[in-house]
Amino acid sequence: MELDKLSFPQAIRQLAERYGIELEEEEISLEQQQARSERDSLLALNSWAQNWFSEQLHDSEEGKAFGRSYFESRGFRSETLKTFKIGYCPDSWDAMSKAAVEAGYTAERLQALGLAKNKDGRLWDFFKGRVMFPIRDLTGRPIAFGGRTLSTEKKVAKYFNSPESVLYHKGDVLFGMHLAKPAIAKEDRVLLVEGYTDVMALHQAGIEHVVSSSGTALTVNQIKLIRRYTKNITVLFDGDAAGIRASLRGIDLLLAEGLNVNVVLFPDGDDPDSYSKKVPADLLKRYIEDEAKDFVAFKLELLARGSADDPVKRTEMIHSILGSIAVIPDAIQQGIYVKLASEELALSEDVLQSEINKVIRAKLLEEQKALKREEFRKQRMGEQVPFPPPAHATPDWSDEGGKSADSFLGGAMAEEEAHRTVIERDLVRRMLRFGGRDFTLPEPPEGAAPETVAFARYVISFMESLNFEIQHSVFAKVYGVFVEHARAETVPSIEDFMKLPDPEVQSFVVGAVLDKHEVSSRWEEVHQIYSAREEDLLNKALMDSLHLLKMSDNRREIREIQEQLATLNDAIGRNDEAAVESMRKLIERRKALDEQKRNIATYFGTAILP
Ligand code: ATP
Ligand code: MN
Repeated sequence: MELDKLSFPQAIRQLAERYGIELEEEEISLEQQQARSERDSLLALNSWAQNWFSEQLHDSEEGKAFGRSYFESRGFRSETLKTFKIGYCPDSWDAMSKAAVEAGYTAERLQALGLAKNKDGRLWDFFKGRVMFPIRDLTGRPIAFGGRTLSTEKKVAKYFNSPESVLYHKGDVLFGMHLAKPAIAKEDRVLLVEGYTDVMALHQAGIEHVVSSSGTALTVNQIKLIRRYTKNITVLFDGDAAGIRASLRGIDLLLAEGLNVNVVLFPDGDDPDSYSKKVPADLLKRYIEDEAKDFVAFKLELLARGSADDPVKRTEMIHSILGSIAVIPDAIQQGIYVKLASEELALSEDVLQSEINKVIRAKLLEEQKALKREEFRKQRMGEQVPFPPPAHATPDWSDEGGKSADSFLGGAMAEEEAHRTVIERDLVRRMLRFGGRDFTLPEPPEGAAPETVAFARYVISFMESLNFEIQHSVFAKVYGVFVEHARAETVPSIEDFMKLPDPEVQSFVVGAVLDKHEVSSRWEEVHQIYSAREEDLLNKALMDSLHLLKMSDNRREIREIQEQLATLNDAIGRNDEAAVESMRKLIERRKALDEQKRNIATYFGTAILP
């Protein structure tokens, strides 16, 4: 669990997989079972292929003559090849496919993994004539391959990679992670390089906390994977300018995910692989340690290498540095970098901070605009209907719920309050009319006898666990009596309400109980046996009320946040730092509320576009 930052069940599963122990897990569906066994079959095929490619590299004449000698000429030792399970795919049309089919693997799966292609009903080997780099998951199982050509022809793509498959999602994987894990934990740092061979070369030099993103831009998922092991990353850049520019964006992404980013720049024309072959291992290690710069210093160095005297370039670079600082989520960390940048750029902290605030502000305003656009779009789509009438509201259980819903359209506050009043009245009225009845709790645990509880107490348990309050003074008094009695595990009688000295309360209670069709006002006489269907309806009506209350709270809070945001706009214009921070928080909360709103809408079966 510690090493791989896994939960307990994940750790158990991983260990079981590693040692081939079958775990009996609680029922999985047939579909899940089939998906799992399909996955297992694909993994088995890839493992077979990995072994077969390795055999070809180490034991076949062709593999030795082309593959082995190629790696030897690049200075890779045979243990390194074995550690990375490097292989070779012979340069014939279908040597691998034939061997796979012979070993019992199907043509469909060979194609599903991209190991073979089908041409006119015949399989041919996708990686033919290439040296093979297995891409492995965290437990070391091969989930894909990179195949490098040995040809020096420019027309031939240097690398082929397995396509995305059930096993392989390019953006979720880092090459070398499986081997690097222990070293990353030990060093509390990861080194990020560009190529497969860079990872291998550093490993061979005894530097094992190294991974590669396989030539593609770093993804957020890859960064999250790194974050499970360490917060510290050193990015190793080749010395060529084009690569550096492309990777600068990657640095901002790392910063935004809260990582501490260092950068090492290799001498012009060298990458970690080539450099590792030029200097002894201890010098290489020292180079990486000594040359590691924080990203501010790194960007400054780029500037110095380029055109330090050009004022336009200099301004651009300063903005690029401030842009990077602005994305750092941790305020303290951000402050440290402002200080640092102030020293290195010889500009005052105040000037820098106010520039950074401008960037942050622009981003926040952009987000806020996006929210507003969203709202506008929804209004136009006619989704502003804030309280969709519950489709199943039945006059039997709520006298007003159904018909009054129509009058809640529109968002004016007074209407909203009126609406809240109706929801509350509905709920309390239902408590008055049915509160004393035994209510069978829905869905008792398997085998258990159905439990019953007085309906009023069932309602209260929900209200309390959800922290809902009855706001209207009359209904709150009635509800309060129910709560008092619930503490003593009883249910109030009509007389208990009549003791309240409030005529409004009394007339409400009498009105609620004295239904036009019901003459009796006594609990015992109202008391009848429910049918299961009636209980369902009663329960459904309660759930509706609870969701409507939630919705009312949700709308009120959203309105409050909008108001606060509006007042902050001015403060932000004055460069007020605290205001920027408050705005950030408000927008976060607003997003959470929108999510909540969507959930409520889902309950009522109303589609709200994402
Ligand atoms: P070598 O040192 O053998 O030339 P490398 O691993 O250093 O190979 P780079 O040219 O530095 O390769 O490219 C970095 C990474 O980008 C490679 O490891 C590979 O994952 C990916 N890559 C490079 N060229 C291609 C290509 N043509 N198609 C797909 N991926 C590629
Ligand atoms: Mn290289």
